[in-house]
Amino acid sequence: MMKYISTRGEAPELTFEEVLLTGLAVDGGLYVPKEVPTFSKEEIESWRDLPYAELAHKVIYPFVEGCVDSDALAKILSEVYGGFAHKAVAPLQQLDHNEYVLELFHGPTLAFKDFALQTLGRLLDYVLERRHEKVVIMGATSGDTGSAAIEGTKACKNVDIFILHPHGKVSEVQRRQMTTVTGDNIYNIAIEGNFDEAQDMVKASFGDQSFLKGERKLVAVNSINWARIMSQIVYYFYSALNLGGPVRPMAYSVPTGNFGDIFAGYMAKKMGLPIEQLIIATNKNDVLHRLMSKNKYEVHPLMHTITPSMDIAVSSNFERLLFDLYDRDGAALSELMGRMNAKTDVVELDEEKLAKARELFDSYAVDEDATIKIMQDVFEETGYLLDPHTAIGVKAAREVRRNNKIPMITLGTAHPVKFEEAVLRAGFDMPKLPHHLTDLMEREERMDVLPADLAEIHKFIADKTFG
Ligand SMILES: *Cc1c(COP(=O)(O)O)cnc(C)c1O
Repeated sequence: MMKYISTRGEAPELTFEEVLLTGLAVDGGLYVPKEVPTFSKEEIESWRDLPYAELAHKVIYPFVEGCVDSDALAKILSEVYGGFAHKAVAPLQQLDHNEYVLELFHGPTLAFKDFALQTLGRLLDYVLERRHEKVVIMGATSGDTGSAAIEGTKACKNVDIFILHPHGKVSEVQRRQMTTVTGDNIYNIAIEGNFDEAQDMVKASFGDQSFLKGERKLVAVNSINWARIMSQIVYYFYSALNLGGPVRPMAYSVPTGNFGDIFAGYMAKKMGLPIEQLIIATNKNDVLHRLMSKNKYEVHPLMHTITPSMDIAVSSNFERLLFDLYDRDGAALSELMGRMNAKTDVVELDEEKLAKARELFDSYAVDEDATIKIMQDVFEETGYLLDPHTAIGVKAAREVRRNNKIPMITLGTAHPVKFEEAVLRAGFDMPKLPHHLTDLMEREERMDVLPADLAEIHKFIADKTFG
């Protein structure tokens, strides 16, 4: 049975089930598998003709073995990926010779987060049913995560979900993707405040959960939850197999915020998939690009951009990579993270550790003008409209690609219809909503508007989860 350990080395080892129900480790670290499962090239090769859900079973099962029964997992994955609006689940779109976009936006909320959150919701319900427990999911969102989490848990019998968003500060499509989902266990709270206030209230709630009734506890659905990373590893295998891997190596460019999606690519490589290059593509919130290129870690204030899903000041999952770079030395990492989180001084990594990261990773930051320009260029070259996040990935790939003879795959993280500001600024008409969402603008909305006051939020949650 797979065990999970904390990156800071001072928390108990947990099973998959325990990790699924935990957020941060008690020592402040993030959980990672104690041993990474590996596959030979021959074994990976033998999966070439598997449909997405069956491939997902091969990749995911070693991480959950002993906690989730093999048949139950197969059923969950076939339900999840059978619900996507494209039969291939994660189809490739070609832009040029050896240049591709992996479309990860055919799930219910039109962004890649559905891959993980649809699975996470069902795994939670499976585990909770067996434990006779109920949990509360609480999260703050400025967009994609909230709707994907709501869609992923709407059918869960043992989960109540409370998603806070800043009132009036989320695009209409994104708000409606959250507020029009019907289910007795779904609560949208529009906070009279900004995203940071919503986020701070969620953090404070995890810190002191005494407001919850009975045996209930909070579960985190942000990308510090290992189960999310795990589901995202699959599409690296799927895309590589479709383009002649593992016989040929691949390169990936990943629009990056919290470093969850790209960390899944790093995991795929550790598991045996030949990946030659991983590109960290950021917007002007470029803390990781500055670190990778200059070896200076310095947190700048958050900037709002036309790629809101990549607007972060710190990338929490980067800690998982640092753990490996520092030879899985929890004490060393604890000391390093202490300095990095203090946000006062500029932190430098050990040159030798950074050199190790640079063998696989490159980075590039793209500003708003360049984002708009690449959307226009790619449309002119191919007739294909990129969403602005994906556009950042394509631009970075074209700038720092190492080898033209290896397929370069940019992760297509969202559908352009979600990001009106960028699409209009680039001079395009808004694309149509995909058919499963055509009536989104007419559906009835449900949300509660509450003041940015922790006590009021806690009272609201406690009242709704009584019994
Ligand atoms: C969440 C998100 C990202 C960033 O992914 P991370 O795993 O946080 O690095 C990029 N693009 C879109 C559209 C997203 O929703």
